[in-house]
Amino acid sequence: MKVIVLTINPYKEKDAIISGISENEYITFLARGIRDPKSKNAAINNALCIADIELMDGNFKHPILKSSKQLFTPLRLEMDAKYLGTLIMMNEIVNYLFPDEEKPKMFKVLEEAVSELKKKDDWLLTLLIFMAYALREGGFELEVNKCVNCGKKTNIVAFSFIEGGFLCADCISPEISRDLNKNQMLLLRKVFNSRDFHLLGSEYDFDEAYVLLQKMIEFTEEAFGYHFKNLCLILG
Ligand SMILES: [Zn+2]
Repeated sequence: MKVIVLTINPYKEKDAIISGISENEYITFLARGIRDPKSKNAAINNALCIADIELMDGNFKHPILKSSKQLFTPLRLEMDAKYLGTLIMMNEIVNYLFPDEEKPKMFKVLEEAVSELKKKDDWLLTLLIFMAYALREGGFELEVNKCVNCGKKTNIVAFSFIEGGFLCADCISPEISRDLNKNQMLLLRKVFNSRDFHLLGSEYDFDEAYVLLQKMIEFTEEAFGYHFKNLCLILG
């Protein structure tokens, strides 16, 4: 079974209790001896690695790891704060924004995100697309193709998380700020319409996208009632 490792909790001297997702289920298992670097399973002792694992039943409340083969690791020689912060944040999103039974629906997007991040090294766009996906899966669909109020596709002048998407000049009320420029609204549209990471590698203005990320983090925290714990790596 192919799994993405989400959490590793030390247990006894060298064991760990590992949780992760496969395409269909959220699983927790005991990995004996895994914290010993010489363990044949040591390669999966790292969050967000992807492995093919075999489990067996034993005298324990969780199934026990029988064998494993690492298929992918997010680790690389050079890992700066942004790269690490992006990994941690994507892990937090899956782990804390979704109840266990809903976590597997993030399997495909997480699998693609970690691999594309490692290949293309575009942490900002990876995170924007991943968060947009998580918001949608979490039930916060935002309208980025027409005015959320009247459905008109022309004369879009603002985006409001609270109102649920784009607003046209006729529908915007005075208290809604027009704080995003045209480029930012176009990027937001691309990001929310993405179902994969094809956008990675395309050109965009870093500073403009960075503002979008800050707004999206703020909205995600409010929407899910969760506070991200490692924002300093990303926003520092
Ligand atoms: Zn309108």
